[in-house]
Amino acid sequence: MDIAKLCEEALEIGFTLAEPMRVDTIHLREEVREMCAVNKCHAYQTNWSCPPSCGTIEECQERVNRYETGIIVETTGQLEDDFDFETMDATSKLHSNHFVEFLKKLRKEHPELDVLPLGAGECTHCKKCTYPDAPCRFPDKLCFSMEASGLVVNEVCTANGLKYNHGKDTICYTACFLLE
Ligand code: SF4
Repeated sequence: MDIAKLCEEALEIGFTLAEPMRVDTIHLREEVREMCAVNKCHAYQTNWSCPPSCGTIEECQERVNRYETGIIVETTGQLEDDFDFETMDATSKLHSNHFVEFLKKLRKEHPELDVLPLGAGECTHCKKCTYPDAPCRFPDKLCFSMEASGLVVNEVCTANGLKYNHGKDTICYTACFLLE
């Protein structure tokens, strides 16, 4: 598997940064999951990809352990000031588009790879998630988030040589693709 080439492909899609990711830098923490329960993002208990239905921290660890390597990516945006919610929202959407496009490309052009995508928020594949009334409509398309899996995003970025804090008036969204 040519990880450097896959990073180049991620940059071509539009991510601002892309680096190879070592799976041994992933340390899942219960504290991150506890922050999900505070429900600032309003996704807790609303989606199959989020806690509690995304599995216990041990189940998330088992999921991650199946992979040998990966790619970690960022989309960054320049804000006018701390209240530039328009750019925050636009950068989030851009990141989400990059995430979907790159995942599609990986699956289409590299069918030999088993990919576990971990995104920046809850799974948005369907307009409305079936949770909790019916099983996930597309289990093979379901995307867990990095935080829902217990990853400390800034820690894992730094451990893989990816700058996380880009300075005053910047916003940064992260994702990773574990590969085998
Ligand atoms: S694929 Fe659809 S039903 Fe399944 S977790 Fe994602 S949004 Fe929910």
